[in-house]
Amino acid sequence: MTGLEELPIRDDLRGLSAYGAPQLEVPIRLNTNENPYPPPPELVADLREAVSAAATGMNRYPDRDAVELRSALAAYLGHGLSVDQVWAANGSNEVLQQLLQAFGGAGRTALGFVPSYSMHQLIALATGTDWIGSPRAMDFTLRPEDAVAEIRTHTPSIVFLCSPNNPTGTALDPAVLDAVLDVAAGMVVVDEAYAEFSHRPSLLPSLAGHPRLVITRTMSKAFGFAGARLGYLAADPAVIAALQLVRLPYHLSALTQAAALAALRHAEQTLAQVGRLRTDRDGLVDSLRSRGFDVVDSDANFVLFGGFAEEKKVWHSLLDRGVLIRDVGLPGWLRVSVGTTQECQAFLAAVDDAAIPTAGGR
Ligand SMILES: *Cc1c(COP(=O)(O)O)cnc(C)c1O
Repeated sequence: MTGLEELPIRDDLRGLSAYGAPQLEVPIRLNTNENPYPPPPELVADLREAVSAAATGMNRYPDRDAVELRSALAAYLGHGLSVDQVWAANGSNEVLQQLLQAFGGAGRTALGFVPSYSMHQLIALATGTDWIGSPRAMDFTLRPEDAVAEIRTHTPSIVFLCSPNNPTGTALDPAVLDAVLDVAAGMVVVDEAYAEFSHRPSLLPSLAGHPRLVITRTMSKAFGFAGARLGYLAADPAVIAALQLVRLPYHLSALTQAAALAALRHAEQTLAQVGRLRTDRDGLVDSLRSRGFDVVDSDANFVLFGGFAEEKKVWHSLLDRGVLIRDVGLPGWLRVSVGTTQECQAFLAAVDDAAIPTAGGR
């Protein structure tokens, strides 16, 4: 077998390993922030019909600009957005990649506030964009003056903000966005993958008057549609015109467009489950706190908890009990996704059974 290092691969990719949470076959998987509830039967039936109809025209390329889908996404987002302010791709990761292709690249810098979604850094790297990971405060929040100072120092072409932030669950103080928009000369991308789970309103209204602001969303989380791969963004029409320069022709298949349209037709039903997930999330925060763990307030469908002397041991002891959570590489902390109500109970039972010590001694 040929080793990677024997290939004439780009120097900046040498020695790297591929992204990916280990996907293990265990009864309770709470490691990738998916919606644990499958799509309702009505949606599945609608999707089947929509895909059949799309199949009859499969000899043709799909609508390159996905106009019907983007119109439906604009209607879902509201705030008076129209089709020319919305763009879609195969998962928000592809949306982010297109943003970096258009606004980043060789000789340019992207900056994010870490810990945050590791794909921001990885997609920057893959597009040859330099990366600066600026630190958050000890409680994982971000203060306007600190964000401004970092941007003044590094003058990035792209600033990534993430609200609610993965892996901490922290929502962004809107004052941070205002301060960043005032000082940043480049693009400002707010990743709102978990917006539907948040107590805070979306930052979409900030788009008005800010042509360099981009808000990204996904159907992978609240919509329970991770398998379909559909991400999208809202921004000034000029930003969408820029992305059309770098996207591959016909990047969104007719099947994906039909499936996403079907999911949007059932949005109300899907989002009703989000209320249940939010309740269970708040319950999980309380339950972990009452057991003496450090728990970060969460606006998302996952909870970062800690106070561990050895988080890898804790991760293993839960895995031994059939529960897979996420080691996000933060010393002393682990992240658990909110599962079904029963899965949350099983997780807490495993935590109790494992008798986990914390650094402070419990
Ligand atoms: C899960 C996640 C995404 C979603 O990626 P998709 O490609 O749409 O599945 C984007 N941003 C953040 C912060 C996430 O956690």
